[in-house]
Amino acid sequence: MSELVFHLFPCRSDNYGLLLHDPTTGATAAVDAPDAAAVMAELQSRGWQLTHILTTHHHGDHVEGNLALKQRFGCSIIGPAAEAALIPGIDRQVSGGEHFTWAGREVRVLDCPGHTKGHVAYHMPAEAAVFAGDTLFSLGCGRVFEGTLDEMYRSTRQFRTLPPDTRLYCGHEYTQSNARFALSVEAGNAALQARAAEVDRLRAANHLTCPSTIGAELATNPFLRTDSPEIRKTLGLERASDAEVFAELRRRKDSFK
Ligand code: ZN
Ligand code: FE
Repeated sequence: MSELVFHLFPCRSDNYGLLLHDPTTGATAAVDAPDAAAVMAELQSRGWQLTHILTTHHHGDHVEGNLALKQRFGCSIIGPAAEAALIPGIDRQVSGGEHFTWAGREVRVLDCPGHTKGHVAYHMPAEAAVFAGDTLFSLGCGRVFEGTLDEMYRSTRQFRTLPPDTRLYCGHEYTQSNARFALSVEAGNAALQARAAEVDRLRAANHLTCPSTIGAELATNPFLRTDSPEIRKTLGLERASDAEVFAELRRRKDSFK
């Protein structure tokens, strides 16, 4: 079995498009479809035919390309059962705890309610990759629109248990602004300072900051670091539960300028 090729590219204002390609079978999947024209251009320049779309959630900036891509390629669209009615062209509904096979590889579905009610993430253990959509970002997490803060806490928590070398692919290039918030609550974290400087360098050169890794996020992402004494001290929540620290971080991030 040859290695899967991962191709990450920017599209819309701050979304990531992601294509997975199996050179052996030609199977090609888009993780979300933010923009049909952008995805098509990337496929065309590589000579790939789209066979699948893996949808993480129903927001327009993740599904807008679904129908046009399906019409062009006849690809099959896999997406969350809990919000299937909102996913254009969905063919196969999946839920947390389920596994399926794509291009001969196992894909595990993680339920991630919070940003939307039915948001899912896809984990490919053999590829050491997870597609987190708008649940977990590098140095941040998604806004809680449809679920509760407690749901989002539990959704993001699942990522802590993935192997540290797992590559984290997320839905948006938000890392630089996330870094500013992260430093505002944990200024003394040396790993975070180094990552923030690296992110500044990458963005100044117009490079992408993803994929990150779970190990790097565990060391730097405040939303995964609710047990950090420094974060707890900054928030004045030394004795609170991890869920409470998470909720306070998310509330502060919502109004952070
Ligand atoms: Zn979204
Ligand atoms: Fe989004």
